[in-house]
Amino acid sequence: MTKPPLILVNLLFFIFTAAVAIFVVPIEAYFNSFDWKEVTACIALIWMSGMSITAGYHRLWSHKAYEAHTIVKIFYAIFGAMAVQRSILHWCSDHRIHHRHVDDNDKDPYSANKGFWFSHLGWMLRDYKTNPFEDYANCRDLQKDKVVMWQHNNYGKISLAANIGIPALLGWLNGDVIGMLLLAGVLRLVVVHHVTFFINSLAHLWGRQPYTDQNTAKDNDILAFFTFGEGYHNFHHIFEYDYRNGIRWWQFDPTKWLIKGLSWLKLTYNLRRCPEERIEKARIAMQLRYATQKTLSLSPPNKEEILGKLQAEYDALMVKMTEFYQARKSFMDLKKQALIQSYEGLEIRYKYKELKASLEVQKNKWLDLSRMPLQYA
Ligand SMILES: [Zn+2]
Ligand SMILES: [Zn+2]
Repeated sequence: MTKPPLILVNLLFFIFTAAVAIFVVPIEAYFNSFDWKEVTACIALIWMSGMSITAGYHRLWSHKAYEAHTIVKIFYAIFGAMAVQRSILHWCSDHRIHHRHVDDNDKDPYSANKGFWFSHLGWMLRDYKTNPFEDYANCRDLQKDKVVMWQHNNYGKISLAANIGIPALLGWLNGDVIGMLLLAGVLRLVVVHHVTFFINSLAHLWGRQPYTDQNTAKDNDILAFFTFGEGYHNFHHIFEYDYRNGIRWWQFDPTKWLIKGLSWLKLTYNLRRCPEERIEKARIAMQLRYATQKTLSLSPPNKEEILGKLQAEYDALMVKMTEFYQARKSFMDLKKQALIQSYEGLEIRYKYKELKASLEVQKNKWLDLSRMPLQYA
């Protein structure tokens, strides 16, 4: 099978920027060294342009996980263009197709089933035409967004101004234009390119699957550290409208912290979260799946008995969980209406607390059983 033609501009651009980052930057560091202002500017711009992709292009525009003030959008549009990953409209169109047809080698523009290289970079080097309909029909909503269209129609100018203009200006202020262009311009771009490309490649290949195994997306703490929190990709592919990717307090998700932090300043609002009940149930369903697989693969003589016990415990936990979340909802409703001190309120509060405690017991029992099914039958 003949491969589609190479996109020469993309190929040369990736080679040129990588060559400068790998060879010219160390040579400059050796002969002229970089000062702390150049290093600081490089790190700051990595975060500003990287997070404009993750918080802006990805969670705001592709998934509508929250809404943002125009000032925030303009910031994302400018620093997103600095990351050189095409316009918001184009990026989101590709990304929505990725979610809709994830892992489908003919439709997913960066299908991880085609391997690391293809999903990381290869998909941009040849004219694969996985998304040939550039009318952006899956982004009609974004076509009504003035900031999105302004960036789309002026993408080249904004991208050039951000990539060359900003580092050159900073370099001029610092008295060394070349040094700043090399560090805060090229090295910064290459770093942001590859860490964000990891979300399409490594985040579909390396890690665990606590929420779903219906696609290749993985959760990976190490990757989250390098991708501004986008390494919790297994969670993201099942609950894509959630503004969070790392939902636990200890999970490194600076993109989530930024969105939440901006909400306190009233610059972001309507932050969407998936109901905890759905998240918990998805996790437990996967634990059942893993425990079943483990039992089947070890195939002990009392296999049927163990599988029956697993299913029974799982069913009991689901019932208890539904009851608990209903009680919690009634409790929260009463709290909102300030009726919690009424007789009815006290009763509901009691029921809620009781269910919470018994759910905890049931959950622990389930965890022990699902982790080591063979020992508990
Ligand atoms: Zn996504
Ligand atoms: Zn993905």
